[in-house]
Amino acid sequence: MVIRYEELLTQEVPNSQRSIAWEAKRFVEKDLQIKINIVFFRQADSGDPDRKSIEASRQIAGRAERDEFGTVWVREGLHFSETIKTIAHEGRHIWQYNRDINSDVENDAVKYEKEVASRILGYNLPAAEKVLKREKPQKPKKREEPEGVPVCGRELFEIRSKIDKYNSKLRRALGLDSKNEILEVRISP
Ligand SMILES: [Zn+2]
Repeated sequence: MVIRYEELLTQEVPNSQRSIAWEAKRFVEKDLQIKINIVFFRQADSGDPDRKSIEASRQIAGRAERDEFGTVWVREGLHFSETIKTIAHEGRHIWQYNRDINSDVENDAVKYEKEVASRILGYNLPAAEKVLKREKPQKPKKREEPEGVPVCGRELFEIRSKIDKYNSKLRRALGLDSKNEILEVRISP
């Protein structure tokens, strides 16, 4: 089975996913000292010939290209933690490729994606994902952009507020005092 995926324009991607992707990209670039170029995609069996497309033998969340841009393909519609993990995972493969690392690459990338997701979301990942999975990125809404406000900055602010909201839900669920500054929550297995 061959699945065809095609490139999306940035504005076709939900704002919330774009913002979290931007945050993940900046994090990974700084952390690994690499440059990556995010390209969003969706499945399109008979698509637009003007759009760049890729093929895969199964459903994929992302893919890293061996090109001079460090292109990382990210599937449109992934929820926040999956978006972060995909970018970190594929970014790590680019880093491995640049450094000629060939052994245990998949385990290393999986370990790295979890580490980055925990560090960006700022709390225990399995618990955070449980909360986040209830939320799906929303389709972009048409609205007036206030002049002089960078869209990325504002979207990031919105996503931060969402994450803060999840954080307090999580605290309540765990019975923790909301005044405590929690960077990480460990839940006994
Ligand atoms: Zn991989």
